[in-house]
Amino acid sequence: MAINIEFSDRLKELPTYLFVEIDKAKREAMAQGRDIINLGIGDPDLPTHKHIVDSLCDAAKDPSNHHYAFDAGLPKLRAEIAVWFNKRFQVNLDTDTEIYPLIGSKEGIAHFPLGVINPKDKVLLTDPAYPAYRPTIQFAGGKVISVPMKAGNDWIPDLKKIEAYKDIKMMVINYPNNPTAAVATKEFYQGLVNLAREKGFIILSDMAYSEVYFEGKKPLSILEIEGAKDVAIEFHSFSKTYYMTGWRLGWACGNKKLIAALAKVKTNCDSGIFQAIQTAGITALKTSDDVIDEMRQTFQDRRDYLINGLRSLGWKIEPPMASFYVFAKIPKGFNNSMETAKAFLDKADIVITPGVGFGENGEGYVRMALTVSRERINEAVERIRKIL
Ligand SMILES: *Cc1c(COP(=O)(O)O)cnc(C)c1O
Repeated sequence: MAINIEFSDRLKELPTYLFVEIDKAKREAMAQGRDIINLGIGDPDLPTHKHIVDSLCDAAKDPSNHHYAFDAGLPKLRAEIAVWFNKRFQVNLDTDTEIYPLIGSKEGIAHFPLGVINPKDKVLLTDPAYPAYRPTIQFAGGKVISVPMKAGNDWIPDLKKIEAYKDIKMMVINYPNNPTAAVATKEFYQGLVNLAREKGFIILSDMAYSEVYFEGKKPLSILEIEGAKDVAIEFHSFSKTYYMTGWRLGWACGNKKLIAALAKVKTNCDSGIFQAIQTAGITALKTSDDVIDEMRQTFQDRRDYLINGLRSLGWKIEPPMASFYVFAKIPKGFNNSMETAKAFLDKADIVITPGVGFGENGEGYVRMALTVSRERINEAVERIRKIL
């Protein structure tokens, strides 16, 4: 006889997934064979570079890679991450204690709270935010407190508000930001690190878009800030930089004790990363700057096509300086972000993401991902022209 199976309270407490309706409409539209332009997904359309794929193929044929990997990752991978980090940010990381490879940065972000958050601990989370953070904090029993981000402050939270909160255990930040494409200032990072040290809270920094920046303006790592290693752990990813979203490879770095907490959780959950993928990761980190510049140029060109196209329709939009998202105020004539996204899908066969899905402060905005070709962006602009 079938038993009565119920989801755990933990799962039942998760917030309702706001993209459900739009996802369903998108699947229906695709099933009907409509020519959908998908500006909804944060996954580059371009394939992983050949030298990285070749490196995986070679390593996959080596039987010494066919076993459980070291939990802490190949020493050579950690060493290469340290070299890369020093070159990019001029920050020295200890390869044994300050770097930990991950099965994608999302995996590490999901597991980290289990190592540092106790039930009822207060965690500050920006609103809007990438939706993956909240559930992981809730799984650990943490209490999420929303810190508003506003366009008027360039989507950077007000340090005075943060200072006013009591007994904070952790704050989660993400720059370059998904969905707003904002980049953190040095002043914000320094102020936040100072507050964290003074008040004793942890900073979780998600830097998945560190290399997707435009016009030569390199975003800072929070670890470049004096004192940051006392309080911060930063998550990095191969996914966006090297077009490797499907490979699942990233790393955490920063404060030793925080890395040790994450390591202890992970040792009890997984058994390392397939070594052939780690080997390909070493190859990826050695990729020449030209190749990465080309990635930036690709997204910058697309950004300019989309922004110029939409501006020619009278839509006021500022070009993002990093990430591959355009976070735009909804056009005149629409009441909210969900209505805008539905209209774009129903009338123009274009998928965009309603800002409200990222938090209530995302309302009034829509996110468009630059993950389709220039030709498709032009086609999208023409279709939008017809419905505005
Ligand atoms: C894409 C993305 C990630 C996920 O990166 P993985 O390394 O592929 O898990 C993390 N954070 C943000 C904000 C992202 O947009």
